[in-house]
Amino acid sequence: MQVDEHEVERRVERFKEAARGDGVKLTHQRIEIFREVAASVDHPSAESVHRALAPRMPTLSLDTVYRTLRLLSDMGLVSTLGPGREVARFDANLAQHHHYVCARCGLTRDFESEELNAISVPESVAEFGSVEATHVEVRGVCSRCAKEQAKKSGDTYPEEAKGAERSTT
Ligand SMILES: [Zn+2]
Ligand SMILES: [Zn+2]
Repeated sequence: MQVDEHEVERRVERFKEAARGDGVKLTHQRIEIFREVAASVDHPSAESVHRALAPRMPTLSLDTVYRTLRLLSDMGLVSTLGPGREVARFDANLAQHHHYVCARCGLTRDFESEELNAISVPESVAEFGSVEATHVEVRGVCSRCAKEQAKKSGDTYPEEAKGAERSTT
């Protein structure tokens, strides 16, 4: 699944503008790494970005991908998901949105909800620090994992684990 190509171009343009503003050199590798994240709905890890680019960019090292993604994150052009996952994953969707996460395979998809955007954070949260954004993470077992599980066990469709977790970043 891919992000709409106009949206990808819009994100790439924003990256180029930000790079010019911050005095960050726009190398071919950096643009391709950003484009890969910007075009994906998978919230890819550095490893999967590297895997996707390696066939047409054989000289690209995993280390460069890591460093570039960290740079993009510092520039505020991608956000990271986590903490608590072994591998950081990156997200170029800067619009307010929420996540569905499969607890089994880690599939992560965006969804929008005006109701969830308007959620009010308990006052007790202020004790930890300032609140800049709220996003809701809905966790469960994705339909693909559920099907595979059903195939393996020969059982009927398993009841999906449901739960919502709110994280404030
Ligand atoms: Zn899954
Ligand atoms: Zn996202």
